[in-house]
Amino acid sequence: MRVKITLACTECKQRNYNTTKEKKNHPDRMETKKYCRFCKRHTTHKETK
Ligand SMILES: [Zn+2]
Repeated sequence: MRVKITLACTECKQRNYNTTKEKKNHPDRMETKKYCRFCKRHTTHKETK
């Protein structure tokens, strides 16, 4: 049961990544450290709708 999600940088609010997740494993908003090309460093990215 994979669902499409968008990951947005929590610092500049840019939506940098489209990905999928397993809803069973992550019922809540996912947070991941990823490279943000706007901040030019790794930041926390949060799932958005
Ligand atoms: Zn950013």
